[in-house]
Amino acid sequence: MNEQESRPSGSNPKEINSKQGHLFIISAPSGGGKTTLSKAVVNRFNDIFYSVSYTTRSPRNGEQDGVDYYFIQKKDFEKRIENGHWAEWAEVHGNYYGTSAEFLDKGLDSGHDMLLDIDVQGTIQILGRYPDSVTIFIMPPSLETLRKRLEMRRTESRATIERRLLNAENEMAQKGLYRHVIVNDELSVSIEKLIAIIEKYRYPNKPKK
Ligand code: ADP
Ligand code: 5GP
Repeated sequence: MNEQESRPSGSNPKEINSKQGHLFIISAPSGGGKTTLSKAVVNRFNDIFYSVSYTTRSPRNGEQDGVDYYFIQKKDFEKRIENGHWAEWAEVHGNYYGTSAEFLDKGLDSGHDMLLDIDVQGTIQILGRYPDSVTIFIMPPSLETLRKRLEMRRTESRATIERRLLNAENEMAQKGLYRHVIVNDELSVSIEKLIAIIEKYRYPNKPKK
């Protein structure tokens, strides 16, 4: 059996070139803190490329097209499914979300480290394409804390919060798929834990503090 045939069905790993960048994937239930933590990573390492996802959901107050997400219409998203535009895509809380294959592949192939903030379904798809991805799951300290953080963020209606909390339990049950898990209690501690994980892969020869 050749190498191609021995791969699990449905996966299509990309050819690895020696200078390929690291791919870091962060997931968390909604309100778990992945946006806050991803921003901290990008602030710390200005040479890590953050992949701006595409979504069909409406922008929240203060969200900017092309910065937080590319906000597109459902028809456009579905056309891009047919065209093979997505490295991964999923329906989350009733909306589509996806990662551009071209942006991801070009970034990695040119040696850049990339950061994705995507859900569990998307992570499984990316692992089929990039099995060496470094996967990190962010856990809230408890469901009560998660609810409070979602309420305090004031971006969602009550019904949307309930829907997100239901999905949260489902997502948290799958944290075992991830290489690293961080419980996001004290924010500054979580940021340092995340930075330490990323540094471990970027600078494997750096002496430990
Ligand atoms: P996500 O992107 O996973 O939906 P956010 O990063 O938007 O989550 O975080 C949800 C809310 O919780 C935000 O208002 C954020 O400021 C707050 N938050 C995130 N992490 C912490 C933390 N460790 N302690 C307190 N509040 C936090
Ligand atoms: P939100 O609407 O709160 O910004 O995100 C909702 C969920 O969609 C989160 O779990 C987030 O990680 C996920 N998400 C955001 N972008 C993507 C993406 O490109 N692909 C996938 N699969 N999930 C995404």
